[in-house]
Amino acid sequence: MDLEFDRQHIWHPYTSTLNPLPCYPVERAAGVSIFLETGEQLIDGMSSWWSAIHGYNHPHLNSAAQQQINQMSHVMFGGLTHAPAINLCKKLLKMTDNALQHVFLADSGSVAVEVSLKMALQYWHARGESRSKFLTLRDGYHGDTFAAMSVTDPDNSMHSLYKGFLPEHIFADSPKTGFWQPWDENDLGDFKRKLEANHQQIAAVILEPIVQGAGGMRIYHPEFLKGVRKLCDQHNVLLILDEIATGFGRTGKLFAYQHADIEPDILCLGKAITGGYMTLSATLATSHVANTVCGGKAGCFMHGPTFMANPLACAVATASMEILERNEWQAQTQAIEEQFSQLLPRLAEHPLVKEMRWLGAIGVVEATTPVNMEKIQAHFVKQGVWIRPFGKLIYMMPPFISQPQHIEKLVHAVESALNDPTCFQ
Ligand SMILES: *Cc1c(COP(=O)(O)O)cnc(C)c1O
Repeated sequence: MDLEFDRQHIWHPYTSTLNPLPCYPVERAAGVSIFLETGEQLIDGMSSWWSAIHGYNHPHLNSAAQQQINQMSHVMFGGLTHAPAINLCKKLLKMTDNALQHVFLADSGSVAVEVSLKMALQYWHARGESRSKFLTLRDGYHGDTFAAMSVTDPDNSMHSLYKGFLPEHIFADSPKTGFWQPWDENDLGDFKRKLEANHQQIAAVILEPIVQGAGGMRIYHPEFLKGVRKLCDQHNVLLILDEIATGFGRTGKLFAYQHADIEPDILCLGKAITGGYMTLSATLATSHVANTVCGGKAGCFMHGPTFMANPLACAVATASMEILERNEWQAQTQAIEEQFSQLLPRLAEHPLVKEMRWLGAIGVVEATTPVNMEKIQAHFVKQGVWIRPFGKLIYMMPPFISQPQHIEKLVHAVESALNDPTCFQ
């Protein structure tokens, strides 16, 4: 592979053209393994950022893609429809709550978030109320497009860089009580105050249920989410749940909001929706939201991307739902959770470890100091695993098909990195 060309001309996520860190050349991937051109076989601990839940090169997903590509890869969705979209949306409605009845298919997670925010704004516009603020949590992450950025944590993201251009929204303290800790009612205090003080301007609350992903890998108590739903109802504010990272079994429930027995008004899905094959997202809304939006002056929901409901992506997503319907994910994520709960606490005594967290097929080690990305990446590759930390967070969300020896290997690699001081700043 022409790595020199890559280095000189191709941007990778959040990288510099001046001093790009090395990228590892992948030749192929299968099951839980990523095979490098240089011969190494890496056990995957990332599911390619939450998405490859069934592992790579899956026969059922491959065959769905092959069949669909021989029918058609794409047709426009304006005025046309097709079986792949209908099949997928049927499955999405069956998996989620009864109240969610309308699906908007788009191309990426960030766009699903944009769509959800636009729905909420149009909802209040249709009701003749001018509400243009969103209430969200600190330490959240909702994507890299502008509206998504505006509800992402203001300190550890890009707010200062784009100040003056980004709309300013309202941030409440993120929950402090961990998933497994005893619930403390005070945790909701700041959220409650901010909602009470501003509810007449707030179009919707948007947050990641139970697990805050790229904003800090925090796993919080279901009672917080229950309280949020209750307060939104009391103050007549819509609740948007961003399940782009947590959806489709990752937390041990099909959707993380099911840990709290609540229902959203609008739900954003993405990442694992195609089992990691290609980009697709979905925003689901209740009939009340959808019909109010469309009963307004605009007369419709104002959005329609070129590649909306791409048939190839929908066919693979439907096949991914079929694998989930076999219900093996439940025992798989439970077994991974069990293993994390046994292996991670052993790292507690390590001087570089601040905290460990886990839930479902997610395991997190928060270090006391940031990693040295180049060094720790090389260390992991040498150990035969693929784990990509950020800042002080070393985290794993392996494919559901991972076997006990794979999880062991991942945790062992994290432990060995902790014992190598050159892996940290
Ligand atoms: C990744 C992510 C997004 C953005 O999705 P993209 O497909 O990267 O645009 C939004 N919200 C959450 C919670 C995510 O994890």
